[in-house]
Amino acid sequence: MARAAEEERAVKAFGWAARDSSGHLSPFHFSRRETGEEDVRFKILYCGMCHSDLHFCKNDWGFSIYPLVPGHEIVGEVTEIGSKVKKVKVGDKVGVGCLVGACHSCELCNDDLENYCPKMVLTYSALYHDGTVTYGGYSDTMVANERYIVLFPKNMPLDGGAPLLCAGITVYSPLKYFGLAEPGKHVGIVGLGGLGHVAVKFAKALGAKVTVISTSPSKKSEALEHLGADSFVVSRDQDQMQIAMGTLDGILDTVSAVHSMTPLLSLLKSHGKLVLVGAPDKPLELPVFPLIMGRKTVVGSAIGGMKETQEMIDFAAKHNITADIEVVAMDYVNTAIERLKNNDVRYRFVIDIGNTIAASKP
Ligand code: NAP
Ligand code: ZN
Ligand code: ZN
Repeated sequence: MARAAEEERAVKAFGWAARDSSGHLSPFHFSRRETGEEDVRFKILYCGMCHSDLHFCKNDWGFSIYPLVPGHEIVGEVTEIGSKVKKVKVGDKVGVGCLVGACHSCELCNDDLENYCPKMVLTYSALYHDGTVTYGGYSDTMVANERYIVLFPKNMPLDGGAPLLCAGITVYSPLKYFGLAEPGKHVGIVGLGGLGHVAVKFAKALGAKVTVISTSPSKKSEALEHLGADSFVVSRDQDQMQIAMGTLDGILDTVSAVHSMTPLLSLLKSHGKLVLVGAPDKPLELPVFPLIMGRKTVVGSAIGGMKETQEMIDFAAKHNITADIEVVAMDYVNTAIERLKNNDVRYRFVIDIGNTIAASKP
């Protein structure tokens, strides 16, 4: 049973929460647990705005718990550590992504795949082990077990690095696991949004040839000149899609809305893989013939384990990979959500929590 969301815990916190499926966010006072012996507490400085935050605020997937404080691309500075914490010290710059808990005893947890543990606890809108509801990073303070703390490399900017904690790991993990982005491979990235634009950067850094498949012709020059993609295909342009047919070894599909898989499958070579990471609120239609004719695979992937998340952020720091961001104030959050819904962001909103949340208190 969920304990009352309003129940007073040791540490007062303030954030912005959605109260119902209208998704509208407003100021919210709540509390977080005290720093346990394995816990790390930090002052939140920045939080990225993932499209999943929008899905959650609007209860698109049907399991939102209100009041709902979104945010799972959270970075800040450590203010307190528990007596058993070894990984970080006070003053370190750290992050928390999509996970704050798992069972730590199953086969998946033992393989550093906490993200697939049946008892995995999401950073917000989930029940923690103690029965309380988890709250995310659109707030001033965070506490998490050290296993879920990502150490930020010294040269990684906190604002541009924040989105890597969800968008980064969500694309890095399948690019590696499915071998989509090795040298000699040609990978397609569908949807040039928060996930898609960092996917292009990771895939290039991993040595692959990259084609962006987009509904937005206006993103072409940036994709090619700035993000480093090798080619750009407008998915609604039949001629361009025809030319690209059968050229890709793999595709990473980051689209947030219902769309057709058929044209994407036609872009794959035989034995090609279509990896779904975008999470539309309704099922996609699975066409069988394009799969049979070419022995193609359609598969999904969810974020990544904590070990791989640290590996991803260290890799990003080494290759100068950050997200392209628009930094916004806390009280801009509803406008930002609306713009995100309308595909009007290049390419990730990041809330400047550290400098703006205090002023947003009523
Ligand atoms: P985003 O920034 O809004 O990007 C989504 C992109 O999809 C848009 O920029 C747009 O790119 C394309 N798109 C949007 N509507 C479309 C439509 N109707 N048809 C075709 N393309 C469309 O979102 P995001 O933060 O990258 O997240 C993308 C999805 O991944 C969301 O559903 C999110 O919940 C999910 N997600 C999944 C995981 C996971 O673990 N699997 C983790 C994080 C997020 P173009 O303009 O280039 O077409
Ligand atoms: Zn996310
Ligand atoms: Zn487990």
